[in-house]
Amino acid sequence: MSRLLQLEAVAAHYGATQALFGVDLDVSEGEAVALMGRNGMGKTTTIRTISNLLPLSGGSIEFAGMKTGGMAAHRVAKLGIGLVPEGRRCFANLSVAENLTVAAQRGTWSLAKVHDLFPRLGERAGQMADTLSGGEQQMLAIGRALMTNPRLLVLDEATEGLAPVVRREIWDAIAGLKREGQAILIVDKTLAELLRVVDRCVLIEKGETVWSGVSSDLTDDLADRYLGV
Ligand code: ATP
Repeated sequence: MSRLLQLEAVAAHYGATQALFGVDLDVSEGEAVALMGRNGMGKTTTIRTISNLLPLSGGSIEFAGMKTGGMAAHRVAKLGIGLVPEGRRCFANLSVAENLTVAAQRGTWSLAKVHDLFPRLGERAGQMADTLSGGEQQMLAIGRALMTNPRLLVLDEATEGLAPVVRREIWDAIAGLKREGQAILIVDKTLAELLRVVDRCVLIEKGETVWSGVSSDLTDDLADRYLGV
């Protein structure tokens, strides 16, 4: 498997405050990797830095063989990073179908394929995005990212705050994408579901990678120490 994303000793700041001190992480083609850690440890910051929504202030990030540090965020996205940000942002005043089509880039994903994945988006194609339920908005945010035909799908807390039945639907969809060979980087707090889908885990604490390995090597001890579960 060839390497798609590689972070080495990544550092990042919010103004004068340093939030990342040394994040090491990599994702290969076809692989699903979980980025884990307790609240405030730097998961969202890592994802924002990968997308260059926050500038890299140390270390290096390589995506698809290119150093992305210093690139504009839209150029990084164009290279093939499909971000589903925390808070499931969609265009509220566009319809479901418009939200999907404005994101479209050449590739195998189409409206029909997104509707196969999330039939509710097909049923609600003409509805304004702000009239959707939270779960449907999350599906739309994932659908939008897929319409860009990303080489890497990045999911930040995609199941947070959703009803159990909707969470299951989203986990099933993520598992299906993984089976199809989609590379995925995922942040989520529900450990059991995460471990069912991902190949490897990266644990961070205070903005630094403290452990990484295959999911089956994530012992209760490690989970207790770094995730507090
Ligand atoms: P959570 O699971 O709670 O979302 P997280 O692991 O994603 O946590 P981050 O949101 O990346 O953590 O936060 C990492 C650190 O950066 C925290 O100390 C946080 O207070 C700080 N931080 C996050 N956003 C900002 C910001 N906009 N300005 C200043 N500091 C920030």
